[in-house]
Amino acid sequence: MKFTSIEGNSQRLDGGAMFGNAPRALWERWITPDERHRIPLACRGLLVEDLDGKTVLFETGIGAFFDPALRDRYGVVDEGHVLLDNLAAHGVPHTDVDVVVLSHLHFDHAGGLLTPWRADGTYELLFPNATFVVGQTAWERAQDPHPRDRASFVPALNALLEQSGRLELVSGDHTPALGSSVRFHLSDGHTPGLLLGEVGGVLFCGDLIPGRPWVHVPITMGYDRYPELLIVEKRRILTDVVARGVRLFFTHDHGCALCTVTRDERGRFKPGEEWETLEGVELTQLA
Ligand SMILES: [Zn+2]
Repeated sequence: MKFTSIEGNSQRLDGGAMFGNAPRALWERWITPDERHRIPLACRGLLVEDLDGKTVLFETGIGAFFDPALRDRYGVVDEGHVLLDNLAAHGVPHTDVDVVVLSHLHFDHAGGLLTPWRADGTYELLFPNATFVVGQTAWERAQDPHPRDRASFVPALNALLEQSGRLELVSGDHTPALGSSVRFHLSDGHTPGLLLGEVGGVLFCGDLIPGRPWVHVPITMGYDRYPELLIVEKRRILTDVVARGVRLFFTHDHGCALCTVTRDERGRFKPGEEWETLEGVELTQLA
């Protein structure tokens, strides 16, 4: 099994929104904002090759489906579909991916499933040979969003996933497309039904822990629907990963793809050893 981090289009988002109720004086020590108070964020996928003979991509990033005005509003840095290009450069065209796992269907995680924006407003689904794995509850939320996060979903995407006939909804710890090698954890604090995949001692954290600063238990995002619940879930999952030596994979941390987790003398969770990128790393090298 080989792990590769695949960078997608990065974003610049309002730092205050990303750090919830944490004051700027605190979070600007972790990430320096630009003159518009925005911080750089990755939209990174995790490619796992030779997973029981399959090529599996955990998330597709934000992609390039936004029209130019929305691309600017959401601070999407590049014009093309960066994740698709980086996959191909790694030797894996999207047509070779067997399974795509989506932690949830917010556009910065699933927008990369779509072809880049065209002036006629039409889209197609990429990854023509992949099974799309989505949590049952996350799917229901995407079909019927709350007004509070409606803008984070892409209605056209739901229809295309359904029409593909390749959508696989998960409600337990495992799913047929991935067998026993991938175990799923569920979390509701960011959005109902967030699906976290664990494979080979690596946990894809999705938006439960988007990057290193959010390893600190009280730090949540303004985008989280249920921050107190998220904190309870995060504490439980971090306690578990520390006990088992599982590493965290970050989708949004602009400078770190993977880290170990430790606890300091006061019991607070901290990132330990860090990997900025993963380039075809074998499971044995991570163990
Ligand atoms: Zn999200």
